[in-house]
This record gives sequence, structure tokens and C-alpha cells, in this order.
Amino acid sequence: MTFSASPALYSSLRRQMVDSQLRQRGIADQRVLAAMERVPRHEFAPERYRDQAYEDHPLPIGEGQTISQPYIVAVMLDALKLAPTDKVLEIGTGSGYVTALLAELTESVISIERHESLAESARALLAVLAYSNVKVVIGDGTRGFPEAAPYDAIVVSAAAAEMPPALITQLGEGGRMIIPVGSEDSQQLRLVRMENGQLHIELRELCRFVPLIPGVGS
Ligand code: SAH
Repeated sequence: MTFSASPALYSSLRRQMVDSQLRQRGIADQRVLAAMERVPRHEFAPERYRDQAYEDHPLPIGEGQTISQPYIVAVMLDALKLAPTDKVLEIGTGSGYVTALLAELTESVISIERHESLAESARALLAVLAYSNVKVVIGDGTRGFPEAAPYDAIVVSAAAAEMPPALITQLGEGGRMIIPVGSEDSQQLRLVRMENGQLHIELRELCRFVPLIPGVGS
């Protein structure tokens, strides 16, 4: 059975999500809250999970991958203090949900995905939703995307045992990176800042992401 709801119901579910899961838990960046109130998360969910799109948990998207829980997405975007003029690199496009949020919040987004099928669906959906400042690249995100470096912000949506050195070298002066680091079942978000050529690392929330896997393919 498929679930179908009116756009008005979806926007009301989205408002409730932003209020109870994000604002009340301390997400303060008004631009992040507004973007999460605008982007239709249900469009990024597979049809059979659409009725759960605004619930407080991750959702499966195929290929053993997931769209992160709304709160964790908000924590990452909030920590980055994104400016409308920022150039952003995302590793792990997945469904394209976070890519759409980044496209709302910044000037340009390059997003890398190692699974061709996920990259293609995300690319198609982002085009339908008219996000024109986004480029989805099929590739290995552990190498970053040096062609367009340096970046003002880097978002890594898959967990690494160590921070990939290539990503650090692609951060511009004043650049920020948010990345989950740790083993399969124990990870913590790290907020990395490049200031005066020096790296500052802050430990943030505990989290659980799918692994960052080097190389391209299944
Ligand atoms: N932010 C995404 C979440 C995707 S889950 C969303 O909103 O849907 C993490 C994604 O990272 C998966 O799609 C996985 O295939 C991808 N991934 C894992 N290792 C990668 C790598 N080395 N390069 C690029 N993408 C990678």
C-alpha cells in the first residue's frame, strides 16, 4: 500500500518536525530551521517510507544506505555556520536531501557519491526540484574534489576511521568541515576549522552513520 498525503499535510508535518525535533532541542541557526521547513524531505524518501519522512529517525534509501535523522542533519548544518556566499563540498549524496538543504543555504554545492544509482536518482530529483547551484559527481569522496577546491565548508555524511587528509587540504582559510569519526558502532562528530593555516578540532555529538568506503561502486 502506498501512502499519499496532501502538500498541506506534508508542510504541517514539516513545521512540527522543525519545532519539536530541532528548535526545542537547541538548533539555533534560523536559516537552517527555515531551510528544513522548506525542503520536502518526503520527496527524498522511497515511496514505502514516505509516511515516516518527518519522524525522528533515519530512513533506508536502498544500497544499504540511509537518509540521516533530521536532528543530526540540523546539528551538522548548524555547526558549520554557513553563509549565503559559501562554496560547499558534500561527501555522500545519498538521497540528495542534505544536498538540497545546502543548495538553499549556500551559493554552490558539489556533492560526491560512490554509488552510481544513488547519484543518478539524486541528480534527477534535484533537477525536478529546480536546484541549479548543485553538481552531483560519481566518485570517491575520500579524495575530495580538488578541481574546485578550496571550499568554505565540507560536510561528510559517512563515518571514517580517520579524517581523510585530502579533505583537510581542500579546506580554505576560515573553512569548516563536519565529519563523523569512529568505528562502526561508536562515532562522534568532529567540527574542524582552518584558521590562520592551523587546524582546530572540536568534538561534538555522538552519532551513528554508515561507513565511508574508499573507491566507487557497490
Ligand atoms: N546525506 C545523505 C545521507 C547519505 S548516507 C542523505 O541525505 O540522503 C551516506 C552516503 O555516503 C551513502 O549514499 C554512501 O554510498 C556514500 N558514501 C560512502 N562512502 C563514500 C565515498 N568514499 N565517496 C562518496 N560517497 C560515499
